[in-house]
This record gives sequence, structure tokens and C-alpha cells, in this order.
Amino acid sequence: MTLVTLNDILPKAKKEGYAIGAFNYADMNTARGIIAAAEEEKSPVVLQIAESHFPYLPLREGGKLALDLAENSSIPVVVHLDHGTDMETCIKALRMGFSSVMLDFSQKSLAENISKTKEIVDFAHALGASVEGEVGVMTRDAGKGKPDYNNLTDTYTTVSEAKQFYEETGIDAMAISYGTVHGIYREKPVLNFDRLHEIAEAVPVPLVVHGGSGLTDEEYKNSIKNGISKINYYSVMSFNATKGLREYLDSKKEQQVFLYDADLKIMELVKEDIKNKIEVFGSANKA
Ligand SMILES: [Zn+2]
Repeated sequence: MTLVTLNDILPKAKKEGYAIGAFNYADMNTARGIIAAAEEEKSPVVLQIAESHFPYLPLREGGKLALDLAENSSIPVVVHLDHGTDMETCIKALRMGFSSVMLDFSQKSLAENISKTKEIVDFAHALGASVEGEVGVMTRDAGKGKPDYNNLTDTYTTVSEAKQFYEETGIDAMAISYGTVHGIYREKPVLNFDRLHEIAEAVPVPLVVHGGSGLTDEEYKNSIKNGISKINYYSVMSFNATKGLREYLDSKKEQQVFLYDADLKIMELVKEDIKNKIEVFGSANKA
């Protein structure tokens, strides 16, 4: 179908009780696999690139790729910048034609987070694009010393800061912290569904979970039931695909393998993984 914004798909998901998958790509095969999965499932989708992945796929190339895929797909696609770290990157993405951006100032003070987010909201809305903001601190488990999973309570988003953040920024979607962790879980996360539910009651804007990799189907469903409308999912999908690729190459040990065969394999593996997530999130046939 075409390029859409978060506002075109998240409020409907929130109302009808399902979530939209927001899937990261840092290479062409992954991006193509994500779109192919969403098309087969007839699901709206968020195709997103994180600023931290620009060393592997720069904004200029990655953005053009996603915009081309979106414009030629049979389903609604949001082309979204994930975790923009400064105004310049967000503005660059919006000028390229991204329909949505996230500015992540969650590590800064609430006052600074609000004022910078508001600035990008004004700029994006003038262009007809949407903005995701983040409030509360989401820990990152990136292999250099593990967070204390039983002691993340202090980092959970509070109801009052969520309300203030929503009211003073005018954002379109809000990422909050209720116990998920970025990257791969090395321990079982402790999710605070009560906190999530309280925030969902207090703010009308669709809520987003980051660190969606590695949650159980039950935890996804519980999160959606308690107010999550956008689920960011990447790390596990990426590892599943490299595992599958390794098995594929091992099975072909005696033969010569063209690079495009490996590319097609990656695309296929990503597609199958994403199709499963779309079914769990409940967005199949909602395009
Ligand atoms: Zn994130």
C-alpha cells in the first residue's frame, strides 16, 4: 500500500486490542524479510532502523531502502527512526521522508527530555510525521556486566512522569519501562503489569515496549492486554537467523554456495520468524 505514520495504525490497534510489531533491520535481507512477512500476514508493520546500527547500514542507504520497500508494498508501512540520539539525526531522517522518528532523551533529566522531545514533535507534525518518545530508564543488557534483574524497580516509568511527558510534549506514542531490557535476556525479566496498566489508564497515547526480544508469548499477550500497542523486536530474530544460516551453510559443506543463496536464506529465516510474531501480536489481517 503505502507509507503511513504511527497515528494511522496504533490508535486502531489500541482500540481493538492487538499490537503492531516494530522490527529493526541493519541489512537489506532483513528489511525485505520483514516486509515479505507483513505482506503474507496482511499486517501493518513498522520498519525501523536504529541510529546505533548506522555503522552497518548508514541512514542514507538504509532510509532509501525502507522508503522504497514501503512505497511498493501491499500493506501500510511506517518507516521509523529508532532511538535517534540527537535532533540533527531526527531532522535528517524526516527530511529524507521517514514517516516517523523516535528521539530518545530518556537518559537525560525529565525537563530536558520534555523540551527536546517537544521540539522534534513540532518539527515532525509540521511535516505530517509522527514521533515516539521515551520516559523512564530502560536497562540495556549488552554483554558487559549484567543488570540486576530483580532490582529494576527504580527505573520503571512512574504514572506521574508519564502523564507529564504526554501532556507537555504532544507525542504520538510513548515508550515506557516496566521491566523489559534491551538486548538478550540472561535472566527471566520481572515485568510489572500493574504499573503498565496504571500508565495506560492515565495517558491516552499508545504505549510502546522496547526490549521485546525473548519475552514469552504469554508475556506479549499480557503486555498487549495491559496497554501495549507497539512491540519492538530485533535481537532474537537476528540470532535465530544467523543460527539458521549456519545450519544451512553446514548442510552445503560439500557444495559451492553463491552469496545470493545465503541472502535468500536469511530473508526466508527472517520472514518466518516475523510471521510468527505478527500472529502472536494479533495484527494479522489488520492491513
Ligand atoms: Zn529500544
